[in-house]
Amino acid sequence: MTAVFPTAAISRLRMATDGEGITTLVCAWGCPLRCRYCLNKFTWDESTKVRRYTPQELYDKVRLDSLYFEATGGGVTFGGGEPLLYADFFPAFRALCGTGWKLYAETSLCVPEEKISTAARVLDSFIVDIKDTDPAVYRSYTGREGSTALENLRRLITLTDPAKIRVRLPLIPGYNTEENREGSEAILRKMGITDIDKFDYIIR
Ligand code: SF4
Repeated sequence: MTAVFPTAAISRLRMATDGEGITTLVCAWGCPLRCRYCLNKFTWDESTKVRRYTPQELYDKVRLDSLYFEATGGGVTFGGGEPLLYADFFPAFRALCGTGWKLYAETSLCVPEEKISTAARVLDSFIVDIKDTDPAVYRSYTGREGSTALENLRRLITLTDPAKIRVRLPLIPGYNTEENREGSEAILRKMGITDIDKFDYIIR
């Protein structure tokens, strides 16, 4: 059966925001987490209109920017929602687009472990939204246990070059502290992660 990618939105011509060069962001519908300050609730809201693309349909949709991708070293970023839920889609999509496009994922890694190995075989780079490595912080902020994400990050490091993994470490008002974040950073550096993006959530 052909894998499909349930898609909540597609955003073209993005410049160095979620990958190198010019990218098209393809937002998956569906997410196992329920982050308190989620800005993308439409990616898991039941009322969102979802289009289920086959690899050929998505390739036909995004390839009009192929020249931009190839000229700038960009490509397609699968975000969401949680794109790795649909990792089985990636091999067929890669077969269509070849190696001239970069394929990225923005992910929480909160997915079954077999999805990690499938994605690692096909995608070029990962932007990992790890939230926080403290179990209590993760649970209270996302509503889920954080051990899956951390175990999957360890798994991913064994399957791909750690230099191809950027980990985002937010300061989350009301949920973690600078001390928590320093603790997370120390754990990540010990794991071999060097590309760490620290930033603050701005709550309006
Ligand atoms: S992982 Fe992302 S999409 Fe999912 S609930 Fe959290 S912020 Fe929203």
